[in-house]
Amino acid sequence: MAFEGLANRLQSVFSKLRGKGKVSEDDVAEAMREVRLALLEADVNFKVVKEFISKVKEKAVGQEVMSSFTPGMVIIDIVNKELTELMGGTQSKLAKASKPPTVIMMAGLQGAGKTTTSGKLAKLLLKSNHKPLLVACDIYRPAAIKQLQVLGEQVGAPVFSMGDGVSPVEITRNALQYAKDNHNDYVIIDTAGRLHIDEALMEELKQIHELAKPDEVLLVVDAMTGQDAVNVAESFHKQLELTGVVLTKLDGDTRGGAAISVKAVTGCPIKFAAMGEKIDSLEPFHPNRMASRILGMGDMLSLIEKAQSNIDAEKAADLERKMRNAEFTFDDFLEQMAQVRKMGPLDQLLDMMPGMNKVKGLKDLKVDERQLARVEAIVRSMTSEEKQNPDLLNHSRRKRIAAGSGNSIADVNRLIKQFDDMRRMMKQFSSMMSGPKGKKGMK
Ligand code: GDP
Repeated sequence: MAFEGLANRLQSVFSKLRGKGKVSEDDVAEAMREVRLALLEADVNFKVVKEFISKVKEKAVGQEVMSSFTPGMVIIDIVNKELTELMGGTQSKLAKASKPPTVIMMAGLQGAGKTTTSGKLAKLLLKSNHKPLLVACDIYRPAAIKQLQVLGEQVGAPVFSMGDGVSPVEITRNALQYAKDNHNDYVIIDTAGRLHIDEALMEELKQIHELAKPDEVLLVVDAMTGQDAVNVAESFHKQLELTGVVLTKLDGDTRGGAAISVKAVTGCPIKFAAMGEKIDSLEPFHPNRMASRILGMGDMLSLIEKAQSNIDAEKAADLERKMRNAEFTFDDFLEQMAQVRKMGPLDQLLDMMPGMNKVKGLKDLKVDERQLARVEAIVRSMTSEEKQNPDLLNHSRRKRIAAGSGNSIADVNRLIKQFDDMRRMMKQFSSMMSGPKGKKGMK
C-alpha cells in the first residue's frame, strides 16, 4: 500500500502524543523531530519538509497547544491541515473551455502511464455524460496507437488516429476538426513520451501546444519514482506550462514523497490519482482526503463515494452510520461483503477506512475470492445471535463454527480477532471525532 511506512511512522508519533494528558514543549519538539524524519524517509523534498515543520511549529505555538484540553489532537489537527495545504489545499478541478471542445493534452515520460490514463480519463468523462475524443499522437512507441484504440473500445470512446506516418501536429489539427464535426466536448491528446526528457520531445510537445492551445496540460508521473517524479514535473513545467499533474501507480509501494512534494515544488496541483491498472482506477485528487489517509484518519468520503457509485445508496449510508457509531455486526459484515466485492479490491477499501492500516493481521484480509468464500462460510455458520453479538463467541461456539464451516479453529479465531480489531478502531475513531472540539479532522 502506498504511504504505508509514512502512515505508520506518523501514527505512532501521534499515538504517543494522544495518550498524554499533558504535553510538554519537549514532547512537541520530539514529535516534530520524528515527523521530520518520517517525511524525509518517505522521500519528501527536504526543503518542503523544512518549511512544513516550521509552519507546524509556528501554529502549534500560536494555538497554545500546551494549555489546550487535548493537546495531542490539536497538534494532529494542525499537521492534518498543513499536509492538506501542502498538497494543494482544495481539490483542483479539470478546466472547462468556455466554448467546447475542452482540449486536454497529456504529457509524460514513457511508461508513466500516459496512454492508460488517457483511457481512464475518457471513462470518467463518459461517466459524467461527456463525449470525449481520444487522439493518438504517440507515433513512436510501437503499439501505442493500438493500445489507445483498445482502451477506447473498452471504455466506449472514439479514437482519432492517422497511423504513424503523419506528424503529431497534423494529427492534432485533423483531430480538432473531427471533434468539432462530431460534437465531441472533450479532446484528450495522448502525446509521445521518451525515457528521458530531450529537446526533440519538448519541441514536438510545444508545437502541439501551440496549435491546440489546450485548456489543460496534464503531466502524468509515476508516483513510484519519488523525487524523480518531482524533478520531471519541474522540467516539464518550465517548458510547457503544465496546468496539473496526474500521479499514477499510487496503488504500488510508493513512499509518498512525490504526492506530498510535487505541488509545493512545482506549483502545479495534482488533479488526479491513478491507483491501479484497471480502467476505472482514476480518481480526482482531494488533498484533504489524502492527508487524512496518511494520518490514519481514513478516507471515509472517498469510500462512501465509491460505494454510492457502485452499490445501493441506502445501504452505503447505513454502512457509513454503522461504521461511525461502531455498531458494525457480523451480519453487516456479510451483507457488505457482497456489496464490497462490486467495489474493487478489498485492501484498497480498507486503506480508506480510519485506522485500518494499523490493524495487525488485516493484510490477511487482502483476500482472493477463495479466502472470501472461506470468511463467508465462517460467518454463515454463526447463529444470528452470535452475528449480532460477537462477544458470545466462546471456545465451544468457535469450535462448532469451525466444524460447521469446514475451517480450523485458528481460522475462526483469526477472523473474529480481525473483526474485533476493526470494531475497536472504529470506536476509537468515532470517539476521536466527537472529542471536546467536535468533528476534528473531518472535512
Ligand atoms: P505511457 O508510456 O506513459 O503511455 O504508459 P502506459 O499507459 O503504457 O503505462 C505503462 C504501464 O504502467 C502499463 O503496464 C500500465 O498498465 C501501467 N500503469 C499505468 N497506470 C497505472 C497505475 O495507476 N497503477 C499500476 N499498478 N499500473 C499502472
